This record gives sequence, structure tokens and C-alpha cells, in this order.
Amino acid sequence: MLSNSEKEELRGVLDNARRRLAKVGQSALNYSMNHERNIGRDSIDESMEEELFSTEMRLHDREKYLIGKIDKQLVRLRDDAIDLCEGCGEKIAFKRLLARPVTTLCIDCKEQNEREEAAVEQPGQGATAEGGGLGEAGAVDE
Ligand SMILES: [Zn+2]
Repeated sequence: MLSNSEKEELRGVLDNARRRLAKVGQSALNYSMNHERNIGRDSIDESMEEELFSTEMRLHDREKYLIGKIDKQLVRLRDDAIDLCEGCGEKIAFKRLLARPVTTLCIDCKEQNEREEAAVEQPGQGATAEGGGLGEAGAVDE
């Protein structure tokens, strides 16, 4: 089990990451509102703007996804379960949690997951495989 100061440190990291993500999500929302107003402008920019817009929306989905993961971690933290691996029930090292605060797997299970994903995934499927909702979506502090 983690010490109180370790838990406090993790809570701080998660809170900060959550605030930052919420802000990015908000700016995506603002962008989409601006976008509505700008419809009907020059058709030359339109395709470029369309592209920007969908990139923003994809980002927004990613923020939402990560915020969900952070909320889940905050619950696990409250229940004193944040350092328990969901795969095997073993302890997750505090250092690992600090580096990847949204992880719910110990390094062994994570590596095994990645090997399985690599075996299943077909090369060249592109963007659809990304952020599929399984495993980690990357460190929140990247
Ligand atoms: Zn494990």
C-alpha cells in the first residue's frame, strides 16, 4: 500500500492532468462553435478547415477518454487500490504510477498486453487502431 504522502503526490499529478485536459477539451468546444459561424466562407479554405476541425475533434475525444481514465484512477486512489494491478493483483511500483498516472497494470502485465496487441494488430490499419479503448492511452503528461 502507498504511504499518505505518495497518495497525495499522485492525487496532485492526477488533478493537474485532469485540469489541463479539461482546458484542452474546452478549447476544442470553442473551436467547434467558431466553426459553425464560419460555414459558408471561402471554399478554398474549407477542406483545410474541415481537416483542422476533425483533428480537433479527435483530440477532444482523446481528452474525454483520458479524463475518464483519470476519474477512474481517482476512485482507485480513494479506495487505496491505485497501486493494485488489474491484471494480476500485484503491486504497481509507485515510480511507475508517477510516470504513468493513468496506468492500471503492472509493468509485467502491460508488456504482456503489448505483445498480445502487437500479435493481433494488422499492420497498415492506420488511425482506427489508435486509442481503441484498451490498455493505456499513453502517459497523460506527454
Ligand atoms: Zn500485473
